[in-house]
Amino acid sequence: MKDELTNLSVIKDLLARHGFTFSKALGQNFIVNPGICPKIAELGGAAGDVGVIEIGTGIGVLTAQLAARAQKVVAIELDTRLMPILKETLAEFDNVTILNQDVMKTDLHQVIREHFAGMRVVVCANLPYYITSPILMNLLESRLPIEAVTVMVQKEAAQRICAAPGTRQAGAISVAVHYYSQPKILFPVSRGSFLPSPDVDSCVIRLDILSKPPIAVPDEALFFRIVRGAFSQRRKTILNGVCAALGCSKDTVRAMLEEAQISPTARAEQLELPQLGALAQAASRQLSSHLQ
Ligand code: SAM
Repeated sequence: MKDELTNLSVIKDLLARHGFTFSKALGQNFIVNPGICPKIAELGGAAGDVGVIEIGTGIGVLTAQLAARAQKVVAIELDTRLMPILKETLAEFDNVTILNQDVMKTDLHQVIREHFAGMRVVVCANLPYYITSPILMNLLESRLPIEAVTVMVQKEAAQRICAAPGTRQAGAISVAVHYYSQPKILFPVSRGSFLPSPDVDSCVIRLDILSKPPIAVPDEALFFRIVRGAFSQRRKTILNGVCAALGCSKDTVRAMLEEAQISPTARAEQLELPQLGALAQAASRQLSSHLQ
């Protein structure tokens, strides 16, 4: 059934037989363009010695393409109504395990230990857009032993995620993504490639996980607190953003900025990764000297 899962009449018949209706709240826009999923599977690294984690199966259109190429696929899908459908659409594969659960509540370290012993591991998905950032942050921050994350996201999110720190489009997520990985936009996908068709176009991106961050920060929690604080007040100066994030006096933050050689009137999006790293180092030193 693998190659029929983008055929509109096959899909409509399948959904009607199972009485399935799309849930907007769960971000259910299924791929119906036959060119997309084979490309995600190929560019995402699904291959004979690879285990793939997929997030959000829908009716299994990407799952099937991954299973046809990878050694093993573990796919996590929250919507219980899709389980009988997947049983039918993925019947030809014996290398797929479906976990009917919320990806945000899934211990992915355990999934990898249990299912992918001795395999290289990648993540591939057409993400539910309402939780794109939390899913990506969770994948990156939990330091999973994975090589790459290849996902479809909204076009604007793709641009934000892949924007280099120090450029206008950068946000807190771009900083985190560049701290943990090397991101790139692979290809655009038009809204007409989905059923139902969403209001926005999409892009497939790939994050190649770095073996070690490109900057050294003494305290990651502090680094990300500063980054989030600085970008949550985008139009404010870095001085005000960091004051709010750390709850410190302006004088203390001025001293941090001076030590990191950053102008107090700079905006967060003007700062490159090494400057943000220097700020986190200065903050760590200033805060520990205030505590002594
Ligand atoms: N992979 C399919 C495709 O490309 O056609 C479906 C992609 S659809 C954009 C996102 C899928 O994620 C839906 O099937 C939805 O039910 C599922 N989903 C939404 N929230 C989820 C969560 N928290 N955990 C796991 N799956 C989730």
